[in-house]
Amino acid sequence: MLIDGMTMQTHYLQDLVTVADPTNEASFLNYLSETGRLQTFITQERNTIPRTEYNRYLRWVVESLSTVKFGHRVSDVTADEEGYVVTVESNGQTTQLRAVHVVLGTGMTPLVPDGFEQVIHTSEYMTYRDVLKDKYRVGVVGSGQSAAEVFLDLLRDATDEQRVDWITRSDHFESLEAGKLGDEIFSVDYVRYFHSLSYSSRQALLGSFERFRHGVNPETMTAIYETMYHRTAEGGPTGQQTQLLTQVEVEAITYDWLTHQLTGKHVYTGEAVERTYDLVVVATGYRPLLPSWIDRLPIVWEAEDAWRVSETHEVQMEEKLSGKLFTHTNIEHSHGPAATNLGMAVYRNAIILNEMAGETLYKVSVQKPFTTF
Ligand SMILES: Cc1cc2nc3c(=O)[nH]c(=O)nc-3n(C[C@H](O)[C@H](O)[C@H](O)COP(=O)(O)OP(=O)(O)OC[C@H]3O[C@@H](n4cnc5c(N)ncnc54)[C@H](O)[C@@H]3O)c2cc1C
Repeated sequence: MLIDGMTMQTHYLQDLVTVADPTNEASFLNYLSETGRLQTFITQERNTIPRTEYNRYLRWVVESLSTVKFGHRVSDVTADEEGYVVTVESNGQTTQLRAVHVVLGTGMTPLVPDGFEQVIHTSEYMTYRDVLKDKYRVGVVGSGQSAAEVFLDLLRDATDEQRVDWITRSDHFESLEAGKLGDEIFSVDYVRYFHSLSYSSRQALLGSFERFRHGVNPETMTAIYETMYHRTAEGGPTGQQTQLLTQVEVEAITYDWLTHQLTGKHVYTGEAVERTYDLVVVATGYRPLLPSWIDRLPIVWEAEDAWRVSETHEVQMEEKLSGKLFTHTNIEHSHGPAATNLGMAVYRNAIILNEMAGETLYKVSVQKPFTTF
């Protein structure tokens, strides 16, 4: 979601390469230097960068890589005695490639709860942004970073007559800030510790990471507060039409005659909540996108949808295959909250490359946090 003015949740050095390979030419600092932005970047003295700039940086890196193919869909992968056969569809043509090992990075797919009719998931926000900004009553459901960015974006342009509500079942609107020691869970040492625990302990621990998974950037929170403050500065009803509701479990959103009826209840009092909107944006998250071809592999599952993955990101098989299947996808249960952190993705790549090469190409283990896990 590339809304102007929004920033990444990660440090600018958590780019595609730096934490594993600081002298790599695909670094963000090299991008700044090559595009003539290094000096202004230094002068602005910030550790986080605009999402739009991160997007431009990614495009700049891709331009130098002939191995990255867009518009190619992998439709099948089969294992044989020499590794894998990968079937690729592009422009109506099918080709087959051979691979010794395969790395899965199919990412996530939007998750919309049953009973939410005709809503707009945040992944579609930019497509419907102008339509949403014309509506008089808009509800935003959820309280993570995406919800906060959408709420702020709509609120900034809303006229006095327009109403934008923000509704979450969380106890409060939570900030991402965990302090520097708290942030040390985004380290190779922590991932190793998390991975060594039993499945049930890992599940229990994941529940305590809500702030890291769903917390909002402090600066986004400040911007929201300031926007609300300015909207109400003149007194009267201005801006007060907008409501922020916490501890409200939304149970259904029904659609009829161009309006959406939201129904739910207060988590603690049980009181019924009903609101009518012209459109509703839901920030209800994502689930891992797993391709159907994995069903043909003899994968070891530790629970439904939770495959057993080694510390080095190899999907475990009931029987030995000639090639390995590594994964970035569907690893929150095995590798913890770092599973969706872009900085940690670089370590993951380094670990996987070391495994494939059978030697230490990147010294991942030398990075030590202060906390002993
Ligand atoms: C709105 C939003 C904001 C975020 N902001 C941050 C942030 O600030 N900091 C941070 O650390 N993390 C952030 N994250 C999380 C981070 O973006 C993800 O964890 C990360 O992108 C995962 O990378 P990935 O390569 O595994 O998957 P993805 O980035 O999801 O990429 C998966 C790719 O696989 C392709 N694909 C899928 N199936 C096939 C197929 N069959 N054939 C070929 N290609 C296929 C898809 O087209 C896609 O390009 C954010 C996530 C979202 C949704």
